[in-house]
Amino acid sequence: MLPAESRYSRQILVPGIGVEGQKAIQEATAVVIGLGALGSTVANLLARAGVGTLRLVDRDFVDWTNLQRQGLYEEEDARKCLPKAVAAHRHLARVNSEIRYESIVADVNPGNIEQILSGATVVVDGLDNFYTRALVNEASVKMTIPWIHGACVSTYGTAATIVPGETACYNCLFPDAAAMTSANTCDTVGILGPVAFAVASWEAAEALKILAGRKEEVSRRLMFLDLWLNDVHFVPAERNLECRVCGRREFSLLDRNAPLTTTSLCGRNAIQVVPAVARSFDFESTVDRLKKAVPIESNQYLLKFKVGQCELVVFRDGRAIVFGTDDPKIAKSLYGRYIGG
Ligand SMILES: [Zn+2]
Repeated sequence: MLPAESRYSRQILVPGIGVEGQKAIQEATAVVIGLGALGSTVANLLARAGVGTLRLVDRDFVDWTNLQRQGLYEEEDARKCLPKAVAAHRHLARVNSEIRYESIVADVNPGNIEQILSGATVVVDGLDNFYTRALVNEASVKMTIPWIHGACVSTYGTAATIVPGETACYNCLFPDAAAMTSANTCDTVGILGPVAFAVASWEAAEALKILAGRKEEVSRRLMFLDLWLNDVHFVPAERNLECRVCGRREFSLLDRNAPLTTTSLCGRNAIQVVPAVARSFDFESTVDRLKKAVPIESNQYLLKFKVGQCELVVFRDGRAIVFGTDDPKIAKSLYGRYIGG
């Protein structure tokens, strides 16, 4: 097809992309980890741009509070409690049916991160926590795959592009990230929808440079913006040659053998329980067994039921989110009692 007739003709006209850049984009693989406000906007832009393969990864499902800013989801997705990776895939397949999609409903952890990143040309951050970003960074440096960091809350956000061996890595910039938590989350201080779209657009543009084979054009600085205070500024992102990850190549998070068993979820008064990686889990028989004990709702992706003040949502891989508690002991105890393990 001649460029002028192609659905990508306006993108091909952009200096820096051209016919060759477009061809590279269409042969590349992008992985979007986390499909909230940032991830759904990035995935939308990359699907429209014609990326060859789009791998969509998320551990959560659509709820009503997401609809204000998470541009891929509709009321019906929240009503059906669809996993975000499934809802995003369905929506995007109607946007661009010519590209390949892979949707993965899973918690990203040391046991699966390298598989999730395998074959990727670029990885884009749509995450909501520091630990997983630090884990993605280790895998990215180890596997020499560029990734785009982005984060936002309230009225402000930030982004940085990490090209292993060339730019500062996430650990150069935030060496203590794996242990950091923030009191400021979307659930405690809110989020202005346009901030997420602005940061995600920055991330998608950086990703497109890499996908088009123009990684020399990426930003070498940390970008900060606040759309309420009308501020955009940049801070140099200096590489630390003594950095544990990109300098000494010590991948302590990746090398951790013990699986994460519980994680507190981004200020949601919820705990995620992840079973050991090798544990087998039979979803259908669990649904049958629980039906006899408690009123449950289920679809092909998840089941949910209430116990006292808490609600358990259990996914096909055996992972659960226990709502209504911030106490990992209570979450583990409920999981053990109803699901097993
Ligand atoms: Zn580093």
